[in-house]
Amino acid sequence: MQTHSQAAPGALEFVRRFLNTWSIPNQTRVEVDELPLFVSDADKWREELWLHPRAESDTLERLSELRSDLRKSCEGLDDHQLLNAWLARVALSVKVVPAEGGAPGLYVTSADTSYVASTLASVANAISSGTWSRLKTCDDCRWAFYDNTRNGSKRWCGMTKGGVEGRACGTIAKVAAFRARAAAKKSPMSEGG
Ligand SMILES: [Zn+2]
Repeated sequence: MQTHSQAAPGALEFVRRFLNTWSIPNQTRVEVDELPLFVSDADKWREELWLHPRAESDTLERLSELRSDLRKSCEGLDDHQLLNAWLARVALSVKVVPAEGGAPGLYVTSADTSYVASTLASVANAISSGTWSRLKTCDDCRWAFYDNTRNGSKRWCGMTKGGVEGRACGTIAKVAAFRARAAAKKSPMSEGG
């Protein structure tokens, strides 16, 4: 399996892929929603979102709503009410398991085998392990990426284009910031002169 810096650990990677079924490609800057295609094509679903099969209850409408609300959580636009509402809708169970350093940790499973319920279990586990806050959406294009940086300060989906899912948002933002700084340096001189 090919790995790259944007990939999230474990099951969270499939949540990330799910979020990115909605995107704004850099080339066009026009919103693309691939979810209808995934829902209608079982092969494509297995290829990209294979961890959990789609159940009858996983309608396009329900999946779209979940995706939208999970995105809001990643974008800091949910004060946990949306997530809590989703968690209340599905049957989840919690087990105590050994975690890092031998300390007790929590592991959430779902008796309900729907994609929605399994995804919510993955989200709950990510919250429990502290990785959920590292699943972010790009300030610029809103692409979902996992922040692998040490201090968790990443704001753009990719600093260079050309890699897997490579984009240039960070580069574009850096160039814009450089130009803004250059313009700010110039302007006092031009005002003075
Ligand atoms: Zn971006």
